[in-house]
Amino acid sequence: MTKTAIKINHLKKQFKDHVVLGDVNAEVNDGEVLAIIGPSGSGKSTLLRCLNQLEKPTAGEVLFEGKDLTKLPKKELAHLGEKIGMVFQSFNLFPNHTVLENVTLGLIRVKKMDPAIAKKEGMAYLKQVGMAEKAEAYPDSLSGGQKQRVAIARALAMKPKVLLFDEPTSALDPENVGEVLKVIQKLAEENLTMVVVTHEMAFAKKVADQVWFMADGGIVEQNDPESLFSHPKEEKTKHFIEQVLMD
Ligand code: ADP
Ligand code: MG
Repeated sequence: MTKTAIKINHLKKQFKDHVVLGDVNAEVNDGEVLAIIGPSGSGKSTLLRCLNQLEKPTAGEVLFEGKDLTKLPKKELAHLGEKIGMVFQSFNLFPNHTVLENVTLGLIRVKKMDPAIAKKEGMAYLKQVGMAEKAEAYPDSLSGGQKQRVAIARALAMKPKVLLFDEPTSALDPENVGEVLKVIQKLAEENLTMVVVTHEMAFAKKVADQVWFMADGGIVEQNDPESLFSHPKEEKTKHFIEQVLMD
């Protein structure tokens, strides 16, 4: 039976009087890859940020490990990032720290890990994303694809239950996209629960177990990738898919 990793109930988010998410109800399944697609401004990032509470929902619930994250006390909220990790479009690496330090900082400061052990763990995660030989380099000297692989290693090092990706390849030169998608695909094969906001339709089709199409402040359609891409039910989904395939 499919287990639920995150359950979203009547989630609403508005900025002042601008309603960005109307009434979202959905579930992220344990061990699955969920791809979120949709036009710019449809609330994909906002939804993602409501899952890990980087954004406080206006109303509704986000249930994770038996708790409503929207009502989490401050102290527990500070540690939520360890369980629900996030990889950003713009990498967000610390420029004044080496690649390895970028990966170990959270382990040492947040998880209170012994620095020598953190270093060993950090190297293992860098190896996993093919970045071990750049451990002593600074982010500035890396390509976008390399930076993003370091950011993924940093997120993985915290051993998250769920990993969120907000357009992880959108800031990359085209020749760097594949290496990052390959890392994410490998994680999918290891059954890490992931939510990936992406414009890479071929990737979503190949790697995702579920796809949500978002528009107008909500999930317009959700299905397995084959059904959603090949037989979209909603006119809006059809239109969006036709449009991106023409690009
Ligand atoms: P997407 O990721 O699908 O492109 P976003 O979630 O970034 O969409 O944005 C959805 C809408 O919410 C946009 O109209 C955007 O301007 C608005 N929005 C997002 N964040 C904020 C914010 N912090 N303050 C005000 N408006 C915001
Ligand atoms: Mg976005």
